Amino acid sequence: LNGSQRSPNESLRRVSLDANRYRPDFPILDRVTSSGAPLAFLDNAASSQRPNAVIDAMTQCYRQYYANVHRGIHTLSEESTDRYEQARRGIAKFVGAAETHEVIFAAGTTAAINTVARSWGDANLSTGDTILLTIAEHHANIVPWHQLAERTGCKVEFLPLDENFTITDDVVVDALERFQPKLFAFTASSNTLGVEFPVQRWTSLAHQAGCTVLVDAAQAAPHQAIDVQALDVDFLVFSGHKVCGPTGIGVLYGKAALLDAMPPFLSGGGMINEVTTSGFSCAALPDKFEAGTPPIAEAIGLHAATEYLTSVGLDAIHAYEKELGGYADQALREIDGVRIIGPTPELKAGIVSFVVDGVHAHDMSQTLDTYGIAVRAGHHCTMPLHKSLGLSATTRASFYFYNTFEEADRLIQAVREIRTRFA
Ligand code: PLP
Repeated sequence: LNGSQRSPNESLRRVSLDANRYRPDFPILDRVTSSGAPLAFLDNAASSQRPNAVIDAMTQCYRQYYANVHRGIHTLSEESTDRYEQARRGIAKFVGAAETHEVIFAAGTTAAINTVARSWGDANLSTGDTILLTIAEHHANIVPWHQLAERTGCKVEFLPLDENFTITDDVVVDALERFQPKLFAFTASSNTLGVEFPVQRWTSLAHQAGCTVLVDAAQAAPHQAIDVQALDVDFLVFSGHKVCGPTGIGVLYGKAALLDAMPPFLSGGGMINEVTTSGFSCAALPDKFEAGTPPIAEAIGLHAATEYLTSVGLDAIHAYEKELGGYADQALREIDGVRIIGPTPELKAGIVSFVVDGVHAHDMSQTLDTYGIAVRAGHHCTMPLHKSLGLSATTRASFYFYNTFEEADRLIQAVREIRTRFA
């Protein structure tokens, strides 16, 4: 199927990056699916794919120098430790951290948010305090705060979306005044709607109200350059597996003064200065928050991933995904019976969620698989958001820089056919 020849939206194509230049770096993209169709992988918001640079860096670690870090006084342990700490320096640069020890390796976004909730949250919140979230949050940025509320008696409040699937600054200012929250925790970019929130502006508004800020960058870090100092965020978290890196690793960035003042969350080996029969003293940052054997090869793989993305160029990635996502969004909107759940393309990048009259999202996803097209169906771990929109499930196509306009055309044509077939 060469959808590019029949696309009604040809004029919307403006190509700022050549996806075909990067596709050979990702061996998995050459797969055919069980239906025999070539793979169009449009499930990148759930997890991206890995380039050879990442696979090779991890293989080289396991083949040549793997040993536990920070412990052994032998060649392999020293090499492993060097590479692990080099990875931390690389990630600190990737997010623009002032200090390398402001980067804590966690198991992922979920683990990083839980660490802040357990450590900073337990130490700083009590009955009568409020945590402010948006209704668009992933469960990873809701449930740890519900649990904190159960433990401490604090409250959780949600900012609603307006009819454009976004939140204006006025609404944020009003909520900051009304609730006087201790923490404003919000996603930089919604995994369901694709809407991008203005991190710098909201952080500044929150700070003016004396409120600490945590940014969930799980969907932003893969697609746009991050500079934590320019943004002035207090905490920022993301996952390795969405930035072309391995699973089992993620990043908790925190301002040194905050992390220093926080008690450790997980405890055991590696996070101590001294242990006696009557107690312990903590190691300095970053070790204080890295109890146990860390994800060594994963950190090295994550570093390779961030170097790879930097070499592609995050500004180019963002611009291209806006073009590609916008193109798919516009074309899907034109199909009779298709409703896009999310803002118009100017306010989002790379994610197109939709519902189709007469076709359940699970049927849509399963039928798209027969075309070789991988998308996500369900609530995408945003049940409160879906409920607020009166929906139980959507189909989500999420693009990355290695996706092509031809793949978008295949999706558009397939949705058109499936809609006709089910009507
Ligand atoms: N936050 C957002 C916005 C996400 O999209 C996701 C994953 O989909 C998460 C948090 C959780 O990430 P992880 O499962 O890697 O911990």
